[in-house]
Amino acid sequence: MKICKTIDEMRAASRAARHRGKRLGFVPTMGALHEGHLSLVRAAKAKCDVVAVSIFVNPLQFGPSEDLAKYPRTFDHDRDLLKKEVIDILFAPTPEEMYPAGAITYVTVDGLSEKLCGRSRPGHFRGVTTVVAKLFHIVETDLAFFGQKDAAQATIIRRMVQDLNLPVEIVVCPIVREPDGLAMSSRNAYLSPQERKSARVLNRSLIDVKNQFHQGERKATNLINAGKQVLAEEPGVHLDYFEIVDPATLDPMQQLASTALVAIAAFVGNTRLIDNVLLRPMWARASPPVLSPADPPQALQSPPKK
Ligand code: AMP
Repeated sequence: MKICKTIDEMRAASRAARHRGKRLGFVPTMGALHEGHLSLVRAAKAKCDVVAVSIFVNPLQFGPSEDLAKYPRTFDHDRDLLKKEVIDILFAPTPEEMYPAGAITYVTVDGLSEKLCGRSRPGHFRGVTTVVAKLFHIVETDLAFFGQKDAAQATIIRRMVQDLNLPVEIVVCPIVREPDGLAMSSRNAYLSPQERKSARVLNRSLIDVKNQFHQGERKATNLINAGKQVLAEEPGVHLDYFEIVDPATLDPMQQLASTALVAIAAFVGNTRLIDNVLLRPMWARASPPVLSPADPPQALQSPPKK
């Protein structure tokens, strides 16, 4: 595994691979790797000849009162995990390498960037699209792999690629969960044992909504209220948003007549966690999904109650 710290080294490595006629797959991450990240790496390995992974905690996507300074940084462990996966290139630039002083250019996907997490985290998606656009130009990848866990991010990146004619195929992979249903996240490391237990309620509320949808409920407000009721069972969990939106536009839906994205963000103690599920009416299930395959089957089973 070649470790590239500079943009020039990364470009040289990816160009060398592409000149050998290899198909390049790229997995951007912020490190503190877990099985969710590794599922993207494995998907990239299955589809591509050469796989590059980046580890970069992107300061541009953190708000002034957010957790940039304390975001988990576990480079040595991450490097060892990636070596075990047998990837080809690890790109780990410094913030100064990615953002030289005086840089004043940003990439913004108007409108979409202000929805869901964009509403409560102003500037977050601008930071994401700016760094991902830069990474795409640096890595010059054929395919890039993202997680359905960050559903709005996947929608926004797809839209950026479409609008800017970037020659990258976006692949969105299913959410990987802990055995009790909690979506894996680097931020789960912040949770105290009690908070870790409480955090399971996010997935429980999505399962409840999913069950009601399968029983025929199609009115978004009824589904949202049902999900919120489940969340209210945990006094330590404070909702940021609970929305049902069109997965392509991120606009709220009233009636679930087509594929819908149920998205939650909630604070468990001081830790902000997100989760989501895609709901597809029967007629949409045979056709290709809008964003990604459904969550793996284990995610749909009810986890044990508290
Ligand atoms: P991050 O390091 O949090 O920026 O995540 C890097 C990539 O991993 C993003 O595309 C995430 O959507 C994806 N990812 C994070 N957690 C999971 C998960 N539990 N399952 C699948 N993909 C994930």
